Amino acid sequence: MSARYTPSVNIADLEESATIAVSARAKALRAAGRPIIDLGAGEPDFATPPYIKESAKRALDSGATRYTLTEGILPLREAIAARANERLGGGNVISAADVVVSTGSKQALFNSCFVLFGQGDDVLVPTPAWTSYYQMISLARARAVDVRGRRENSLKVSVRDLEQAATPRTRGVMLNSPTNPTGAVYELDELRAILALAASRGWWVVSDEIYREISYETPAPSLLDATQGDEALRERLVIVDGVAKAYAMTGWRIGWSIAPRQVAQAICALQSHTTSNASAVSQHAALCALTAREQSSTAIATMVAEFRRRRDAAAALLREASVDFIEPRGAFYLFVRVPQRDNDPQPGTTFARELLDEHDVAVVPGAAFRTPEWIRISYAAPMPDVLEGVRRVAALCVQR
Ligand code: GLU
Repeated sequence: MSARYTPSVNIADLEESATIAVSARAKALRAAGRPIIDLGAGEPDFATPPYIKESAKRALDSGATRYTLTEGILPLREAIAARANERLGGGNVISAADVVVSTGSKQALFNSCFVLFGQGDDVLVPTPAWTSYYQMISLARARAVDVRGRRENSLKVSVRDLEQAATPRTRGVMLNSPTNPTGAVYELDELRAILALAASRGWWVVSDEIYREISYETPAPSLLDATQGDEALRERLVIVDGVAKAYAMTGWRIGWSIAPRQVAQAICALQSHTTSNASAVSQHAALCALTAREQSSTAIATMVAEFRRRRDAAAALLREASVDFIEPRGAFYLFVRVPQRDNDPQPGTTFARELLDEHDVAVVPGAAFRTPEWIRISYAAPMPDVLEGVRRVAALCVQR
């Protein structure tokens, strides 16, 4: 018999990641023989490009098997800083010392929340937002304050929405563009206005830019672009990015933060007690991804073109069926509002359950993103799966 376990106060509000749980369930059902179409996972279905895998093999052969500096190998941090400086019009504004490489952008985000926010702090979260922000803020003992985006603004928040939700305890805001789960993209002037508000109030801005290279109409701006011409705007800005989505490198677990020096040092100190460095061989693979410029831009363009084809086809099906959804301009998600039935407080959850149990399609319920009227479809899946899965979603919407 095992001793009774009482969860510690640290995880009093902890919930398992719903995005991860959906893909785990889809995989388990598939393994048990059910023909599940998995539109749950937010993971590119492409293989990591061969030249990146080759670079990892070479790195292993030349001894990349040991600890590295906690903050990551210098050439990778230099490459990350160089790219950031290009966005700022050249120069050496950002240095390798401002960069910490982590085990996925997830750890970079957690580190950022943990060193910036604490007990008594409110953090504004434009909602819907990726499920883990709310949990990370809560693990830092701060309070996530949902700021609902307006439907007519593709569920993005405006300066006014943020101002209305702010309290004297507000310490920061989490931004994410292109946005998971909606695919909405913030324009440069929207980012500028939010950054200016944050600067005037002394808030930290954590900008998760992991989907930035996956955008369809125009290149998605970075918060760094919004700081051009006003250095002071970078004083409270943390940019988080990684190689997972754009380079199809989810399993390599390489992300990073670019932060003001003291924050970078705090993140590094924290990470030195948790995981130390991110995987050495993966860091070398990420270095190749960032520095093999021509190969990488071709690889990304090819993947983005395929995502665009799927987006267009899936959106056309939803439009034909008069289903309400956000027009996605980046990332690889479609956010769909499901018809309300019987005053159900969790229509998205009920819908997702029925879709999986009776129609063999996995999607993530909108409740994971604090918008229970919606569901998230990932089109990071082969075209036939996307088409058939979205057809079933549309049919179920119409049927209800
Ligand atoms: N971020 C992806 C998603 O939203 C991957 C799973 C996760 O880490 O949440 O599906």
